[in-house]
Amino acid sequence: MPIFQDAKGKNIANFQKSIEEKKHTISKYYDEIGHLYYGQYKDVNVDMTKDINARCESISNLYIEIEDLNVKILREKGLKKCAICATENNLSNAFCFKCGARFDDADAVPADVIASPNASATPARYETKPAAAPAAAPVVAAPVVQAAPAAVAPVEAAAEEVVEAVTEEGKEE
Ligand SMILES: [Zn+2]
Repeated sequence: MPIFQDAKGKNIANFQKSIEEKKHTISKYYDEIGHLYYGQYKDVNVDMTKDINARCESISNLYIEIEDLNVKILREKGLKKCAICATENNLSNAFCFKCGARFDDADAVPADVIASPNASATPARYETKPAAAPAAAPVVAAPVVQAAPAAVAPVEAAAEEVVEAVTEEGKEE
């Protein structure tokens, strides 16, 4: 199915592009946080806590969005990741073939019902193996923190550019 495959590839490319943009934004926020913090360090009368927290919150949200996009990319490939052990499984697996955790999603077909999964969409290496149901609650994988912020060059003032203010009153330790 060449046309179908093209559509898949296009979707994946779009998701990946979106991920790259989000990573770029995250880097920008890390940079700004460094500037804000330094401004605070230089002048004790300056309190940038609110601005710093707003960016931290934005970064956390972006990591969640990236994780979500990664899930969508896997989906296009006919795969899904186990929330417990992070192993990639066939989309139709009801249980993780590695750790046996139950998949609690609409794609999961009870293991004994699966005859032969759509051959073209499912890589053969991911076999369906029913396991003893551990009744494990699905856990949302924590976003992976990568790329520590690079060293920030000294600046006079705090970053001017202010991101949409996420008000966080009453959070000053
Ligand atoms: Zn697993």
